[in-house]
Amino acid sequence: MKIIVPQNAGVCWGVERAIDMAYKTVETPTQHHIVSLGPLVHNPEVVEDFKQKGVEVVNNLEEAKEGTVIFRSHGVPVQYYNDAKSKNLKVVDATCPFVKRSQNYARRLSRQGYFVVIVGDEKHPEMKSVRSFVEGPHIVSMDPKIVDQIPSTQKVGIVAQTTVPLTMLEAMVSKAQKRFPEVKVHDTICDATKVRQEEAAETAKQVDCMIIIGGRESSNTKKLTKICKEIQPKSFEIEHEREIDFSWFQGVQVLGITAGASTPVPVIQRVCDYILSNLSFKASSSF
Ligand code: SF4
Repeated sequence: MKIIVPQNAGVCWGVERAIDMAYKTVETPTQHHIVSLGPLVHNPEVVEDFKQKGVEVVNNLEEAKEGTVIFRSHGVPVQYYNDAKSKNLKVVDATCPFVKRSQNYARRLSRQGYFVVIVGDEKHPEMKSVRSFVEGPHIVSMDPKIVDQIPSTQKVGIVAQTTVPLTMLEAMVSKAQKRFPEVKVHDTICDATKVRQEEAAETAKQVDCMIIIGGRESSNTKKLTKICKEIQPKSFEIEHEREIDFSWFQGVQVLGITAGASTPVPVIQRVCDYILSNLSFKASSSF
């Protein structure tokens, strides 16, 4: 069996940057009582490693009593910066610059009088962060039908969650353009996401089975799985190689393996090695 792994599979620049910032914080002798607001990445092994190094995960700022708080790549609601300051917490802001760009566009659109539409999952932490920067009327949704519920207005400004498929943003824009005289669009989908989605789709077309590695909470992993499944129904999402069922590979000549933006590259390599070493027939990997 041959294994194909897309060139850019796995951890993205923004998550890698956040992990590096967190490791530097841990290694700084003057830092103490380090917490991260939510898991730093959607990867249990990386989170466990930070735990071993003394980084505790807290779910809200109330739980951070003193020391240093790391804001992860998804970003945080804008008021958290002041809240942390008033609690004398030192902030290590690992918000991905692409998320910061969305925050800035959303705020600017609202200041310019646009009704802001944010295309994304309102429950996702990135969306909670971006919407908090909007200073006027706005809505967060993935469903273009929401456009019908926007109060009558002249100007609508649209930004997107960094990980949504381009088709979702386009559907929202198209619907808004039919209803409002002025629609201003900032395509804030990040390239890392686009590239991973395009490569996953391309790979899924060439293989008999796809494995998608990623954390259960990772929305970009779920999207990769959805894209792959639409092309190759034999697509399986896993968090760890333990979950692999080797019956998936019956009759499979070419296997594709990709991973969400929180999955370190060595984990992909480990999954490849695990599969190859457990298969009883001749195999090769193009990783
Ligand atoms: S997926 Fe894009 S926006 Fe999200 S952390 Fe990675 S680089 Fe940043």
